[in-house]
Amino acid sequence: YTRKIRRHCHLPAETFDGSRVMVQANIELVEEVTAVLDNGGEGVGLYRTEYAYLNRTSLPTEDELAEKYIDLAAIMSPRKVVFRTLDLGSDKFISAFGELNETNPAMGLRAIRFCLKNPQLFKTQLRAILRASAYGNVSLMFPMISGVKEVRQAKAWLAQAKAELRREGVDYDPDMPLGTMIELPAAVMIAEFLAQEVDFFSIGTNDLIQYSIGVDRTNRHVSYLYQPLHPATLRAIKLVVDAAHQAGIEVSLCGEVASDPFCVPILLGMGIDSISMTPQAIPGIKRIIRQTNMHDCRLLLKDVLECRTVSRINNLVMDNIFKHF
Ligand code: PEP
Ligand code: MG
Repeated sequence: YTRKIRRHCHLPAETFDGSRVMVQANIELVEEVTAVLDNGGEGVGLYRTEYAYLNRTSLPTEDELAEKYIDLAAIMSPRKVVFRTLDLGSDKFISAFGELNETNPAMGLRAIRFCLKNPQLFKTQLRAILRASAYGNVSLMFPMISGVKEVRQAKAWLAQAKAELRREGVDYDPDMPLGTMIELPAAVMIAEFLAQEVDFFSIGTNDLIQYSIGVDRTNRHVSYLYQPLHPATLRAIKLVVDAAHQAGIEVSLCGEVASDPFCVPILLGMGIDSISMTPQAIPGIKRIIRQTNMHDCRLLLKDVLECRTVSRINNLVMDNIFKHF
């Protein structure tokens, strides 16, 4: 059965009634490209760049980063690779900076906040990503954005990195698409404004669920509250998808929810443009999409949005699955 699913994994993810959704991969290491391509990934929707900074005492140099990034962009070309700038802090530390000793690291100096506090480190990475953009279909996105000012500050560093490379005669793609992750409730509520600042959104539900339901994603004592099908999570995602489309930009989802067969029909119903997940999940999810009708997904979404409890939503989704498989 698994072999049969894998055999069809290179077909496009198109619903029975002809709607296409891009199915991409989340990776942490360049070496994972083989898994992406073998499983029918249509691009890298999230490259978690922080892993190259962990478990070492010195920081990687621009050339060291650029070499890896160029390899990734070139191998995946013409498929898309979305580079997420460093998401360090919280549970991921680099010894070069020492421990921050925060009481509440998940709400502390992490991700884009950490980069804006350490602009040299940020610019080194931006320059390496820009250099890779000359070799493939590269996009860039910022994690943990909480407001418009933060995006503008990050964009100013990007403009500076571009200006430097231009002066040095180094090639890069001047039209490289720029996005922001939507993983804080604040970003959801101002999605309409953020959409004016960038070319695309990528919804990070792993963190969005943590911050909107107030449940630590790594704490097993409260894991029973960590519910992707919570009405609040679904409303948040819907709000972001609508804001993106209203502004004419694309919206992707790269949290674990993207590989959850219970959630995918709802995401399709919302009109999500692409989903990104661990490479191994791609064949199964593509198969589900090919056996689904967009029309049914929209009806399901309408019913789901009326539900007040997770268990009611679960039942509806379960009925829907039995109807199709
Ligand atoms: C997320 O938060 O959903 C996400 C994709 O990013 P990470 O899991 O790396 O925090
Ligand atoms: Mg995240």
